[in-house]
Amino acid sequence: MVGKRALILLGPPGAGKGTQAKHLAQSFGVPHLSTGDMFRDAVSRGTELGKAVQPIMERGELVPDDLVMKLVEERLSRADCARGFVFDGFPRTLAQASQLDRILESRGFGKPLVIDFAVSEPVLLRRLSGRWTCSVGGEIYNIYDAAPKQPGICDFDGGKLVQRADDRPEVVRERLRAYERQTKPLTDYYRRQGVLEIVDGGAQMAEVSRALEEILNGARRS
Ligand SMILES: [Zn+2]
Repeated sequence: MVGKRALILLGPPGAGKGTQAKHLAQSFGVPHLSTGDMFRDAVSRGTELGKAVQPIMERGELVPDDLVMKLVEERLSRADCARGFVFDGFPRTLAQASQLDRILESRGFGKPLVIDFAVSEPVLLRRLSGRWTCSVGGEIYNIYDAAPKQPGICDFDGGKLVQRADDRPEVVRERLRAYERQTKPLTDYYRRQGVLEIVDGGAQMAEVSRALEEILNGARRS
């Protein structure tokens, strides 16, 4: 990356940012961070924060900002984050973003580079609500883009395909609206700071990779 830099990938569920975050982290040799992984790691290591987070996660509730930020601060203080890192789906709120700015500053980082994966609702609906999973082997199909040979039946083991409750069209629509409401102020915040870039998350994966490369090369020159 550009010397020492924090990279943040934002985008709704189904935007493909997780895959790209993984590629970028690998190619730059920096950690790929998501709060979900950080929570699970803290719980499995039995740290103080892990013990505080575990009951909240078990109840399926949202982890409060102060705990999230403590976890983030602890994670960013580790040696592997010294040169940079790729955040995948964090921050989620304006409050988290401004606290993250303070942490970055205290660790000698400049402003993060923020890339928003913009995807239209029809594309996301197709990606998310087209998804069916094999109840036997867990294989994932998409009835629009990667359909099984026989409707509702897994090609490999004949297992019945099921749709997660989360992936039903009406639930997907609600998830996307909630995401929009929550992150609009966040993207406005980064846009005002001049650090927001947008990629077309609806494009083919190779095209998205190329767009990201261009943005990062531009950031290197500036
Ligand atoms: Zn199967």
